[in-house]
Amino acid sequence: MGRHIAVIAESRGTELRQSTFEALQAAVQLAEFSDSVSVLLIGTNLEARQEKLLKTGLQALYVVEDEASTPYEPDYALQTVKQWYDNVKPDVIIMGHTAIGKDLAPMLAASIDAGQISDVIALSPSQKGVLFKRPIYAGKAFESKSFAEASPWIITIRPNNFTPLQELPASMHCGSAEPVVVKLTPPKPSLRSVVTRVVERISGSIDLSEAKIVVSGGRGVKSKEGFKPLEELAEVLQGAVGASRGACDSGYCDYALQIGQTGKVVTPEIYFACGISGAIQHLAGMSQSRTIIAINTDPEAPIFQIADYGIVGDLFEIVPLLTAELRKA
Ligand code: FAD
Repeated sequence: MGRHIAVIAESRGTELRQSTFEALQAAVQLAEFSDSVSVLLIGTNLEARQEKLLKTGLQALYVVEDEASTPYEPDYALQTVKQWYDNVKPDVIIMGHTAIGKDLAPMLAASIDAGQISDVIALSPSQKGVLFKRPIYAGKAFESKSFAEASPWIITIRPNNFTPLQELPASMHCGSAEPVVVKLTPPKPSLRSVVTRVVERISGSIDLSEAKIVVSGGRGVKSKEGFKPLEELAEVLQGAVGASRGACDSGYCDYALQIGQTGKVVTPEIYFACGISGAIQHLAGMSQSRTIIAINTDPEAPIFQIADYGIVGDLFEIVPLLTAELRKA
């Protein structure tokens, strides 16, 4: 009998977050012959999400449908997941290193006495067992860790580092068999706190931490209006707008856009750093981006040391030129 690897799905509104499918990819990479993969889905109005997950060929899907599950409340989530764990006893649990994953995983690890490795960006089998690679010291170094115990393991994976899984490989696919959908009764949790209201600061825009392209502005944008050309470039590229803390502190944009050590961590395919000097605290949130394009008037700006492409020049000239050319394409 192989191990049971379970993914905890995460939703944003009524949609499954990309991190769910990235976690499934990590599950497949981790799995050996005869291991099985399942998903736990919690929320309300779950039919469409359930269908999307089953399309991957899952053999088992655990569902908790409960009004009380939204918005996210730590006590509720922990007690629900703990109840599922006690019933199902997976050997490995994987979730996204998202705000929810960062909150829930350590609480769960403590409550089920599991080992946890967080913020994983890659995993590879080795003689010492599976090695999990993760950035440390705000991205200045990487470490590889493995679990000392056989199970249970909890792993959180950094968004945008695993290709979202479309379909499970044949050995884990349910094939022509009916997938098992287990509806679990929601717990009657005892809550120490309740969320009374959630105010969304930015709605309708692409989620910054999952965006494939991020156009970020720093203090060099000089004003709120200075972000306009960046927003236009992001729109053409179907990307999201981000910012340095310098730009946020100067009141040019909302703190929800802040990228870095004390902001969001992003790993897009393309990261534009416009008028950003490249302080270490900013790099902590974006240095793992696949391609970094820096635009800065100062040829000595530290951002050029990590940029794949550097343009020395005024962002107010270069960004609109880029946008105009891309519009033609
Ligand atoms: P600056 O350093 O002022 O750089 C502005 C850049 O714009 C300059 O390089 C300049 O040459 C360029 N420029 C000016 N005009 C133009 C133009 N027209 N066209 C092109 N380029 C132009 N920072 C973060 O970003 N994220 C964090 O999470 C974060 N956390 C922190 C935590 C701690 C504990 C501390 C102490 C600091 C933190 N910081 C963080 C702040 C960080 O140290 C820097 O102060 C900040 O990143 C600087 O922002 P900036 O690059 O936009 O501004």
